[in-house]
Amino acid sequence: MSYRTTVLSLFPEAFPGILGTSIIGRALENDIWSLETLDIRSFSDHKHRSVDDTPAGGGAGMVLRPDVVATAIDAVDRQDRPLIYLSPRGKTLTQARVRELSSGPGVILICGRFEGLDERVIEARDIEEVSIGDYILAGGEVAAMVLLEAVVRLLPGVAGNDLSLEEESFESGLLEYPHYTRPRVWEGRTTPDVLLSGDHGAVDKWRREKSEELTRIRRPDLWDAFKERKEQG
Ligand code: SAH
Repeated sequence: MSYRTTVLSLFPEAFPGILGTSIIGRALENDIWSLETLDIRSFSDHKHRSVDDTPAGGGAGMVLRPDVVATAIDAVDRQDRPLIYLSPRGKTLTQARVRELSSGPGVILICGRFEGLDERVIEARDIEEVSIGDYILAGGEVAAMVLLEAVVRLLPGVAGNDLSLEEESFESGLLEYPHYTRPRVWEGRTTPDVLLSGDHGAVDKWRREKSEELTRIRRPDLWDAFKERKEQG
């Protein structure tokens, strides 16, 4: 059974976009995952297929109408899939959540535009809000692609080398160690000798130390959480 994704958007033509390329695109062609896009506008029975209106209480911008968005949602064959609205107010997406989503049957993603969705449809359809970070995009489409790319690359048979997935940043709670390839000397900078020593134990130790050092310096938040987990065993 392929991983089923449905995207509700005012710009369905944006998909698959970058998700049609490279390993993610190949996985789409090979039915490891499927992508259904629904045009929110096609669910409007209002004049000129309008989907938005002015905010109650006044202020700038427009708000997506709850009736139109709900009609679009209700047209989706849900099949136990989480219903997610990409939103800067949501819980920030993490690799742990990505992994959890990748082990499920699929996702339904709603992309906002303008000021976002009317609050009532979020409540009435029990929609989960997920953010991709503390900044504001013009719409949810790119955020949906970020989530899909992160999830799909974890599906069995997509990335090829499952070991490389396990070693990545965040999977262990640490940032990844630095990478080097040929040439051994480039612009006077040399690849660390230990990586060319053939001593796997020494390489592992070096990588581990670099991971810890980088995390400690760059991401004290992750480092503290890592130490805490370690102390608790
Ligand atoms: N007025 C809103 C922002 C609207 S941006 C606010 O201040 O919270 C328009 C749309 O872009 C949103 O409905 C959402 O779908 C998407 N979006 C913007 N930033 C995002 C982020 N950081 N993560 C996920 N989606 C985002």
